Amino acid sequence: MSAMTRPNGNGLSLWHAVSRNHCDRLTLQGGLDVDLAIVGAGFSGLSTALHAAEKGLSVAVLEAECIAWGATGRNAGFVVPNFAKRDPDDIVAKLGTERGERLIDFAAGSADLVFGLIKRHRIECDALQNGWIQPTHTTAASEKTKSRAEQWARRGRPAVALDSRAVTELTGIRGYVGGWMDKSGGVLNPVEFARGLADAAERAGARIFERTRVTSIDRLPDGWALKAATGTVRAGKVLVATNAYGDALNPVLALTYVPLTVFQIATEPLPRDLRARLLPGGQGVGDTRRNLFTCRFDGQNRLISGGMHIIGAGAERRVPQAIWRRLARHLDLADLPPIAYSWTGVAAIEPDFLPRLIDLGPDMIAGFGCNGRGIAMTTAMGKALADWASGADAHDLPLPSAPPSPIPLHGVVRYAPNVMLAWSILRDRMEGASHNATKAK
Ligand SMILES: Cc1cc2nc3c(=O)[nH]c(=O)nc-3n(C[C@H](O)[C@H](O)[C@H](O)COP(=O)(O)OP(=O)(O)OC[C@H]3O[C@@H](n4cnc5c(N)ncnc54)[C@H](O)[C@@H]3O)c2cc1C
Repeated sequence: MSAMTRPNGNGLSLWHAVSRNHCDRLTLQGGLDVDLAIVGAGFSGLSTALHAAEKGLSVAVLEAECIAWGATGRNAGFVVPNFAKRDPDDIVAKLGTERGERLIDFAAGSADLVFGLIKRHRIECDALQNGWIQPTHTTAASEKTKSRAEQWARRGRPAVALDSRAVTELTGIRGYVGGWMDKSGGVLNPVEFARGLADAAERAGARIFERTRVTSIDRLPDGWALKAATGTVRAGKVLVATNAYGDALNPVLALTYVPLTVFQIATEPLPRDLRARLLPGGQGVGDTRRNLFTCRFDGQNRLISGGMHIIGAGAERRVPQAIWRRLARHLDLADLPPIAYSWTGVAAIEPDFLPRLIDLGPDMIAGFGCNGRGIAMTTAMGKALADWASGADAHDLPLPSAPPSPIPLHGVVRYAPNVMLAWSILRDRMEGASHNATKAK
């Protein structure tokens, strides 16, 4: 590991380290009256602030730390306009044709919305809309992604199935059975994107306060009062956009999702000859393994990958090394440069892997759109929430909305992904072995 290695835990990410100076907004002082108060300055809060301010609403965003301090500044930067573990036909079967197709439409256009905002607001964030590729590790997974591509293509999306050769040509990675690509997906630097959204929201009139932790939200006859140590905001409507980082403010919300700690690493930049062998188009890759393998380059040719850990002491030292070894093995790179940055973030995973709104009382709502697809989904969610803030009924928005529904046995279930990981790794290996045996016949 190089001398540049950054700490894990709540330490900051590659993106924080390489992006413009940050945390230069004011802390809230005194009182303020607004139409919409937003708790949390990640993609959800910032996109809502931008779209609501553009509609003429007065908006205040209150952030406990700094812009993009939560999952927004710690993710991998893949812009993915589809659902984790759910296909369009499956969503229609679950939600019915009308609601299902509206949610599918919402997700389908989400990457175009992200890259459109980047263009419109001239946000410099190393954005590349060259596609998101999901290669398959088994024949059965290939059948599934073939159908996945067909279902999105039927709805007018730029989705194509890929055979093994096409995957190798696009990625430089050998051994995949096939896969698919959504050409509207891509990659970006998430901290720069978030800061660009914040700048655009402020230009539209929104006010953003950093180092302003909301400690309580109380009902008033005509709205809500949000209290922080240094001031109070009175608001007609409130969006709680704290994702997996707001447990202290609303313990009931914390029971509605499974918090998943994910590790990320970035290597030192690859030399030009190695860089040329991999991902010449600069797409993002996330495969079909249960123990998901991901990779992409950043703007300085660092390779970025991620993973989870099972349980146990020393994970912060051990897991980044394991991710690095896996990256070297999958990409067949004996001379992979060492780790330059490693960090963690917490993702909020919904039981049904769908984005959702949670009614928290009259004129107060929370939005969760993550499930590993948060960049595109939460940005699109912000646009829908701006409609809610300016008068639309939450039930008329494209996302499902309901009161908080705590997950039964949450205290146990929250550890399920880590416990399941060992089983997932074993099944991936068994499937990999049977795939190799089939190829050898
Ligand atoms: C490691 C990792 C990798 C990921 N990779 C990807 C990816 O490649 N592509 C993708 O699409 N998605 C990815 N995701 C998911 C994506 O990052 C999230 O869905 C998205 O960033 C959520 O944004 P948000 O605004 O809802 O929440 P967050 O970004 O988590 O923001 C919540 C904010 O609320 C603030 N807050 C909390 N409590 C308070 C309070 N009381 N007062 C004031 N402020 C408060 C926090 O400080 C924080 O800044 C990943 C997630 C993780 C953890």
